[in-house]
Amino acid sequence: MIKNIAVPLSIFLHKSETLIQERKEFVMSRKDLEITQLKLIIEELGKEVLELRHRNSELEKISMIDGLTEIPNRRFFDTRVEQELRKAKRDIQPLSLVMIDIDYFKKFNDFYGHQKGDVVLKSIAQKLQSTLYRPGDIVARYGGEEFIFVLPNTPGSGAEIVAEIARGRIEELDIEHVCSDVSDVVTLSMGIATLSNKEDTVKSLLEEADQNLYRAKKCGRNRVYQ
Ligand code: GH3
Ligand code: MG
Ligand code: MG
Repeated sequence: MIKNIAVPLSIFLHKSETLIQERKEFVMSRKDLEITQLKLIIEELGKEVLELRHRNSELEKISMIDGLTEIPNRRFFDTRVEQELRKAKRDIQPLSLVMIDIDYFKKFNDFYGHQKGDVVLKSIAQKLQSTLYRPGDIVARYGGEEFIFVLPNTPGSGAEIVAEIARGRIEELDIEHVCSDVSDVVTLSMGIATLSNKEDTVKSLLEEADQNLYRAKKCGRNRVYQ
């Protein structure tokens, strides 16, 4: 919902800035006004512009956060991953993506209810976020019950360690899942992709991560595949 209002609001704010500019030009054209009056009015208009810019940047931040889990959303991921890929290629540094998916989450919802499912989604998101310790690492909610890590300067071996730690932390949350075919608790499957040549794109890396996630599911779930 926030995503839906963000664009019209920022257009509104942009229009407001234009209106303020027009008002400024109108005031400047008023020959009857004293210099001191003009200065005051222009000062006020300047404050209005600053206030609008502040509101606009606040809005930008809100529009990048997922409402349910309170971690960065898909929009944030889409923006940042392109930047990180460009940077990794420029600096000739590795970059890894980890696609993360909750195992048998439909069954979880069906058995425990959608509301409990929402609570679990939030706990998992928060735990995944707290697992990442490097300032440049990114976690985002990728889709319904899917999350993604973007790990700059991280080769496949490093990404596997990070992914394994995260997988273990979620197991340790010990969230009962009596309908799971692989465990008594909620578990995650993960697929890793690492930048390996300069032809790689976000799309090709996502496809690779998705294929590896699929393999992790096929091999029995609750595991990391790369
Ligand atoms: P798999 O192990 O193969 O991943 O099985 P799965 O059941 O997790 O996968 P599937 O794609 O069949 O179902 C995903 C489920 O995730 C369906 C939906 O009920 C649940 N889900 C997606 N988004 C949300 C959400 O925002 N809240 C809740 N409570 N459930 C969600
Ligand atoms: Mg899924
Ligand atoms: Mg799933």
